[in-house]
Amino acid sequence: MSHTNLGTALITGASSGIGAIYAERLAQRGYDVILVARNRARLATLAESISNTTRQSVQVMVVDLNDRVSLGEVEATLRSDTRISLLVNNAGVGTHKPLLGSDVESMTRMIELNVIALTRLTYAAVPGFVERGRGAVINISSIVSIAPEILNGVYGGTKAFVLAFSQSLHHELANKGVQVQAVLPGATATEFWAIGGLSLEHLDAKIVMSAREMVDAALVGFDNLELVTIPSLHDLSQWTAFEAARQSMSPNLSSDQAAVRYTRTHSSVS
Ligand code: NAP
Repeated sequence: MSHTNLGTALITGASSGIGAIYAERLAQRGYDVILVARNRARLATLAESISNTTRQSVQVMVVDLNDRVSLGEVEATLRSDTRISLLVNNAGVGTHKPLLGSDVESMTRMIELNVIALTRLTYAAVPGFVERGRGAVINISSIVSIAPEILNGVYGGTKAFVLAFSQSLHHELANKGVQVQAVLPGATATEFWAIGGLSLEHLDAKIVMSAREMVDAALVGFDNLELVTIPSLHDLSQWTAFEAARQSMSPNLSSDQAAVRYTRTHSSVS
């Protein structure tokens, strides 16, 4: 295993699924890890296993990120622990239920976890990274960030926020020594699906990746300094073309004149 001083990685949602694999893999790479989630027993089991197999230091924070006071404890750790060099914003929930079949209170809690907690933790971590000229943020978005029709629209909206926020962070921080990566997993075999109300058996196995394969692929993207990593997209030219189209529109999106198709003269003529 690596013995370079990589510092400490703080991983949210580390008690299961994608976050637990990130915790294992990052410790194997030589990071000390701080595991954040609500399930104390799971975190303790994972912490013991990681510390036995890697000898890295492992700290556990039993925290409900939906609770603003508890979230503040993680923010305080990110601000004060100068060994932290990597934040993995992974904790999140989602569902396949449409607007008409989902209740607004659970949608609000989803926004609080997927958007507000992720934002506050990033705000807590980044100033220290900039001050030290070193640090990285991995934000777990989703393919629904660019395909919001697939699952619940609020979920897609939260993940679109994560993608846009990551792109903007990269724009602002790339020359300040801070690496930013947005990971857009496709369907991944975790408890996410059952928790969201649709068990994995309902999905075509051909579109579902194991969490291990997804995280290992995403870490290759991280090593290659990719801003956006879509582990299941085989043809990279599709993303490159999509991104190029977006970038090429950018200089044309603001004007002192409405486009001709929106002017009365045009609509009365046509
Ligand atoms: P998962 O196994 O259900 O993991 C979710 C993690 O978030 C768990 O560790 C859970 O731990 C934690 N968590 C949930 N609510 C929390 C809260 N209020 N406070 C603190 N921690 C909380 O699902 P996963 O698939 O690994 O999900 C990880 C990320 O991947 C999510 O952001 C999800 O949106 C994204 N993603 C998943 C898929 C997929 O198909 N699985 C696809 C694209 C993106 P506790 O219950 O112990 O708190």
